[in-house]
Amino acid sequence: MPAIDDLAKMSSRKLLEGKADRGSGALGVLFDGQLPGGSDEPSRNFFFAQGSGGGRLLVDLGKEIEVKSVGTYSWHPSSRAAQRYDLYGADAKSIPKASPRPAKPGEDWKWIESVDTSSMKPGQHAVMVGREDGTSLGRFRYLIFDIFPNGNQEPFNETFYSEIDVLEVGEREVQRLERPKTIVKKIQSTSGKYSYVVDATDAPDLAQWASDKLVPVMDEWYPKIIKMLPVPGVTPASEISFTLKEPANLPGHLRGVPAFATGDSVVFNADFVRREIAGESIGAGIHEIVHVVQFGGRDPQGRIARGKRLPTWITEGSADYIRWFLFEPEKRGARINHRNFEAARYDSSYRVSAHFLNWVIENYEKDLMRKINLSIHQGYREELWKEWTGKSVSELGAQWREANRKRLGL
Ligand SMILES: [Zn+2]
Repeated sequence: MPAIDDLAKMSSRKLLEGKADRGSGALGVLFDGQLPGGSDEPSRNFFFAQGSGGGRLLVDLGKEIEVKSVGTYSWHPSSRAAQRYDLYGADAKSIPKASPRPAKPGEDWKWIESVDTSSMKPGQHAVMVGREDGTSLGRFRYLIFDIFPNGNQEPFNETFYSEIDVLEVGEREVQRLERPKTIVKKIQSTSGKYSYVVDATDAPDLAQWASDKLVPVMDEWYPKIIKMLPVPGVTPASEISFTLKEPANLPGHLRGVPAFATGDSVVFNADFVRREIAGESIGAGIHEIVHVVQFGGRDPQGRIARGKRLPTWITEGSADYIRWFLFEPEKRGARINHRNFEAARYDSSYRVSAHFLNWVIENYEKDLMRKINLSIHQGYREELWKEWTGKSVSELGAQWREANRKRLGL
């Protein structure tokens, strides 16, 4: 885990040479104590423009210190994971030159280490440059990272660097431990079958809520939902990520949404969670992990088996059915009453459709949820309702409406 308040964070830094990729995060992402939430998050990494041949990064520690270690972290699912750089240090008297691939190491700049992890598998690479006994690498004010494209032959080999840590010999280390702020945390399920990655980097105030309140409930219900919605040939995701995002950092069209799921990852709007921390936040999580079961499973080749999009009202209605009728029926969150009866249609989506689906389940087909979910992968057509219930969906909709009307005395 990268250090939060290491020296590099307090330092200044600039590119002496090279050009950041347009998709890269700002240099600051290297020094914010935070790793990306996933393996392919360009904006949370720093990387040079493809084909530009790397560059040189200067870190000014502000004063000379005895450097104990330099840590570099990178993360990518394929060819951008490996790190390849030479590390140099210089004392306070040295003047960082505009483009000094240190011509004569030992004069101005002392060579510290050459790093190359190109032979390692893709994923997360963490490099720690330091002496085994923890003694000083040297007394430096400046560090230069002379960064090269990594050794991968694939087209993209400018490394996704996620974080740089610089630690000082002695007391600084204690300071590092004073603020153990876990921002990305992986939690194993009690069964050992699943794991949950909580990324509260964007909203650290919610990290504890996510680990202590959200994940235990998700861990109880994710296996239940999987059992409810089996699909032959599709293996449910073994890991779900829960990311908390400030609305300002969400794409515009998603800012007003409490939460959403893509494949096996769930994103919460941090403002929604704060507002609903004792209210709807956990239930929203249940809704989203239904989507993870619907669209986050793996095919036999290990790829996400997304299946085909059903009419939205069906997938949203199913997610809300499991949430409001199975997870928290006592809240009676999906009701048809005098207020909403007139507007309610079976395909109104979300809670209204959840009410409709519950009615079909109670009156026609106990196994409806499983069958609907199966149709995501085996093909959906409207005629399926007739196979499932003996009625068309519009006939069912009309009957449901009539039943509501009677019940409400309208
Ligand atoms: Zn949804």
